[in-house]
Amino acid sequence: CDDPRAEAAAAPTDHDRAEIIRRMDWPALERAVAVCDACRLARGRTQAVLGVGDRNAEWMFIGEAPGAEEDQRGEPFVGQAGRLLDSMLAAIDLRRGENVYIANIVKCRPPGNRNPEPDEAGACLPFLRRQIELIRPRLLIALGKVAATNLLGGDASIASLRGKVHSYAGTPMVVTYHPAYLLRNLPDKAKSWEDLCLARDTMASLPPRPD
Ligand code: SF4
Repeated sequence: CDDPRAEAAAAPTDHDRAEIIRRMDWPALERAVAVCDACRLARGRTQAVLGVGDRNAEWMFIGEAPGAEEDQRGEPFVGQAGRLLDSMLAAIDLRRGENVYIANIVKCRPPGNRNPEPDEAGACLPFLRRQIELIRPRLLIALGKVAATNLLGGDASIASLRGKVHSYAGTPMVVTYHPAYLLRNLPDKAKSWEDLCLARDTMASLPPRPD
């Protein structure tokens, strides 16, 4: 029978896997995400949801995970929360698909729409990192605590992360509320408007993207 030690030695480590993903182009990334089973979320998905939008976008919005409707349709931020995100984009003269790319921390739907577990987010982050490298956005917007803390590390509250410009892998990042949270907490919409203004002002102050 096979020597389990040889099998273990041949299995790719997390580092090897991340290195393989770092060399992927878009078609390879699409194929890899579609068949990925690197975490338990693969078992409950209808399909993996890579992201949507302009792959040359200057703006990149990052949420936490696909929900039931996203899992069915294969697109992030559809349904009520998606419509609110579209309104948020319109408030700063942006439109889905035009100079905007939208993705999530994990590509597969967590059961019952729970938050992704740290190991699930950790397994999926190499895909998001590669998306960011390929898109080269000038500004990231983290939508909600799950997105913000998985990108920045730590366990800070949204309240403490809002109102400043952070950095993820060298790209400036602004943090605001997740649209699904805003649907349940309408008074905080005013704060999200402040965050969008900060994002717009930050973008205006950034140097042009080098070719
Ligand atoms: Fe793979 Fe990410 Fe889906 Fe987990 S959530 S199975 S790491 S694509």
